[in-house]
Amino acid sequence: MSTMRTVRVEGERLYDISIGPGLLADPVRISHVLRGRHALIVSDSNVAPLYADRVEQTLHAARAGMQVARFVMPAGEQEKTLSRFCQCLDALATLGATRDATVIALGGGVIGDLAGFAAACWMRGIDVIQMPTTLLAMVDSSVGGKTGVDLAAGKNLVGAFHAPRAVIADTTVLRTLPPRELCAGLAEVVKYGAVFGADFLGWLESHASALAAGDDFALTEAIARSCLYKAEVVSRDPYEHGERALLNFGHTFGHAIEAEQGYAGAGSQALNHGEAVAVGMVLAARLSSALGRASAADAQRLQVLLQRLGLPTALPAGLDPQALLARMRLDKKAEAGGLRFILWDHAGLASVVRGVPDELVLDV
Ligand code: NAD
Ligand code: ZN
Repeated sequence: MSTMRTVRVEGERLYDISIGPGLLADPVRISHVLRGRHALIVSDSNVAPLYADRVEQTLHAARAGMQVARFVMPAGEQEKTLSRFCQCLDALATLGATRDATVIALGGGVIGDLAGFAAACWMRGIDVIQMPTTLLAMVDSSVGGKTGVDLAAGKNLVGAFHAPRAVIADTTVLRTLPPRELCAGLAEVVKYGAVFGADFLGWLESHASALAAGDDFALTEAIARSCLYKAEVVSRDPYEHGERALLNFGHTFGHAIEAEQGYAGAGSQALNHGEAVAVGMVLAARLSSALGRASAADAQRLQVLLQRLGLPTALPAGLDPQALLARMRLDKKAEAGGLRFILWDHAGLASVVRGVPDELVLDV
């Protein structure tokens, strides 16, 4: 049996993350956060046929006289572009959206980022309600207000901080999510355990089989706990000046792997974001132990957990370590004065470490 959970995010803007089964069809919950007369549902070609009708009915039931339109774009990271963003703004114009309009971001992280960015820009900022439909979006991208799109020059290079009015995560939609996407989300869940909660890591170890099998109860608990960690960090550091950077554990390696193999399209053999982060976390843990910060046993424990969750833990064949190192230097989060990594002190505690020698990075 699953239960309903709520996590509050504080900071400049207060909002709630609601997690539980059936929430997309719950007009009461959404009526508290819906205002004005216009709503634009932004979704993609996989998600809209499954869930957009349900959401539209809920919006009408929540608020009489609501004018609801849809902007549905093709699915995939390659669509997270300025031109799709402009089309989304055009859809708001066609709807006649006023300053009290609401954007409903119904989809994974691609939709959440693009729709959130459109909401940030339309008339200098209107409400967005995030309705994440992937596990990754539920535990990561829908929370924290980072929005944006990609450029040819790199991922997420254009964007804005724009906190949502609310996050509504209906856990039943995970049943239609391809298994590989579910696993990718689990990598980000493990990240929270690795960085913030040794006891959560233990909980994940004892529920690994249930999580990998998509068990509702285990997933709801994992989502709620992950959101709690993210909410705490984001409340304290909304604009990533400090500890929010710890959420990038595994991402310095992960981004380099993604960039080096070309961003994975649907059905591609290349690692997707979560998979690349899984490999990245194992490498970061090994680097931590090579620097004498964490034990080799802890690094091994992380690797075993990720494997049990169906995630890769080794670099894909054919990737050149020197090329990865060069990619890390180009990373948006790189700084002058050497590579920056999030490294482990032990399970549940990490810190930002600068100036890690290249030889050690190549070694791991
Ligand atoms: P995604 O949005 O591409 O979704 C993955 C695939 O699953 C897509 O094909 C989608 O159509 C499909 N899908 C989504 N929900 C489904 C469902 N319920 N049933 C069936 N199919 C479904 O990818 P993602 O992994 O959710 O998100 C990745 C994006 O998130 C990246 O662009 C990344 O930059 C961004 N991101 C942003 C933040 C942030 O803080 N803003 C954090 C992490 C990641
Ligand atoms: Zn990530």
